[in-house]
Amino acid sequence: MNHCLRWALGVVVVIEFIVPLHTAAAVRNWSIAVCGPASDSRRLAITEAVEFWNDELAALNAKLSLGPIVECDRMIPDDLLRRISDGVLNVGRGGPLPREFEKLGADVIIALSGADLISVGMPPAGGRPGLVILRRADMEPLSLPNVARNVVAHELGHVLGLPHSSDPTQLMCGRPAPCRPALFRSQTKSFFPLTEAERKSLARRFR
Ligand SMILES: [Zn+2]
Repeated sequence: MNHCLRWALGVVVVIEFIVPLHTAAAVRNWSIAVCGPASDSRRLAITEAVEFWNDELAALNAKLSLGPIVECDRMIPDDLLRRISDGVLNVGRGGPLPREFEKLGADVIIALSGADLISVGMPPAGGRPGLVILRRADMEPLSLPNVARNVVAHELGHVLGLPHSSDPTQLMCGRPAPCRPALFRSQTKSFFPLTEAERKSLARRFR
């Protein structure tokens, strides 16, 4: 190797050392605390929905990944979860979470309710974590095949900032459109898709 080539290679190595040429910017992780019974079918649905979202975020080159999923050491009372779901407590507009949620230390909290409330999801706001409340899963519609994983994915979509759409073939379809969780019913495991507009919105926010 002649002197000039060896010198040039040395410069490239030094530049690579100072400014890594192929290293992407760091990906942030949003930890998820799941509060509820240890043995609960919704925990598998959560794992699958988190995998779905991480595939979507990776395909968008987003600098965000969901997880790890961590254990939460408490049960959040159903009457409190119902009042949040009913919109009686002003948490959805960035208000603080009730003290029952304090010191959980996760970026997102998923509460497994034993009540037949309406599942909800809301993004982190004002320094408080994102929140998902899931209705009981031992009765319809969450007990129907393929529904729970899509409901979790839908609510995590709200945590990521997506609003409702009105197309019943899409994951984020919801009120005021007449889309209800039972529409996710399927004998084959599949996630309902995002629209291109939703993907663009996520890319703008998290890239
Ligand atoms: Zn929704």
